[in-house]
Amino acid sequence: MEFFRPDSLDEALRLKTEHPEAVPVAGGTDTMVEMNFDLHRPSALIDLNGVRELESWSDEDDGRIRIGATLPYVRIINELGHRLPGLAQAARTVGSPQIRNRGSLGGNLVAASPAGDGHPPLLAAGAEVELASADGSRTVPVHEFYTGVKRSVKAANELVTGVIIPEKRGPQQFTKIGTRNAMVIAVCCFAIALDTTDRTVGTGIGSAAPTPRRAPEAEELLNTRLPWETRGELDEGLARHFGELVSAAASPIDDVRGTAAYRLHALATVARRTLRWAWKEYQCD
Ligand SMILES: Cc1cc2nc3c(=O)[nH]c(=O)nc-3n(C[C@H](O)[C@H](O)[C@H](O)COP(=O)(O)OP(=O)(O)OC[C@H]3O[C@@H](n4cnc5c(N)ncnc54)[C@H](O)[C@@H]3O)c2cc1C
Repeated sequence: MEFFRPDSLDEALRLKTEHPEAVPVAGGTDTMVEMNFDLHRPSALIDLNGVRELESWSDEDDGRIRIGATLPYVRIINELGHRLPGLAQAARTVGSPQIRNRGSLGGNLVAASPAGDGHPPLLAAGAEVELASADGSRTVPVHEFYTGVKRSVKAANELVTGVIIPEKRGPQQFTKIGTRNAMVIAVCCFAIALDTTDRTVGTGIGSAAPTPRRAPEAEELLNTRLPWETRGELDEGLARHFGELVSAAASPIDDVRGTAAYRLHALATVARRTLRWAWKEYQCD
């Protein structure tokens, strides 16, 4: 097995063009598990940990934040938790401290597991994924990034270089259903982001469809029906209808972690609950 350790993005992109079959490694928390279990034995690895451009975050000119692909979860939590609370809440539920010290959003995106915890808050916030190859770079809205179970629009010669995510414009919540509180793969998970300036709502569903996805009809319901102006009490019927539309947007399967029926029920519940928490926060703001 060949092992490459580029120390610049240009070099990493050149290597990926010359060796499209080479597997990039960021935190290695997915890659190394597969190799240790002998599920995958790549002919070459490209270790991205020497590429400084990928491991930082920065403010864009338009109020969004760019998170480098290999920035570990622990830094998202510690350095960006107050500005990207939905993403930070999801990051806090990933694995254990060891996994959060190594694991990255770039790895979560490219692994594209329907159960990945990073996806729902990125969907709810309307993030974009930044991809690059030796031929140039492009950005893709995160809801167009996933194409199937563990598949994405990323081409063989491309790397994910970062994620561009709007800074919070209102309350954000994330919740995950699992068999215990830590070190658990989601049975299902859900994120909500309120934009109290534009008076719109974003949603993200995880582990309840072949890909992470939004619930557009549920978003539209809240955009038009929430009492944005008065910050009045949240109507229980509206919250219930929202939960039903979120559940209707999912298409889960039965598997070892839960049944499809349970997932649909749980999604409706967590959607209602996270909406209540977010609305209360808006009322108290
Ligand atoms: C014990 C344990 C617990 C876990 N718990 C959770 C959990 O609770 N929630 C959750 O969502 N995940 C969990 N995971 C999975 C994993 O930690 C996450 O998916 C993590 O985000 C992967 O990031 P990484 O940097 O380690 O990716 P890596 O393992 O380095 O890479 C993952 C995949 O992405 C590719 N890749 C990585 N970076 C790039 C890039 N910049 N460009 C192109 N391709 C790239 C790799 O080639 C590989 O295919 C867990 C894993 C373990 C081992």
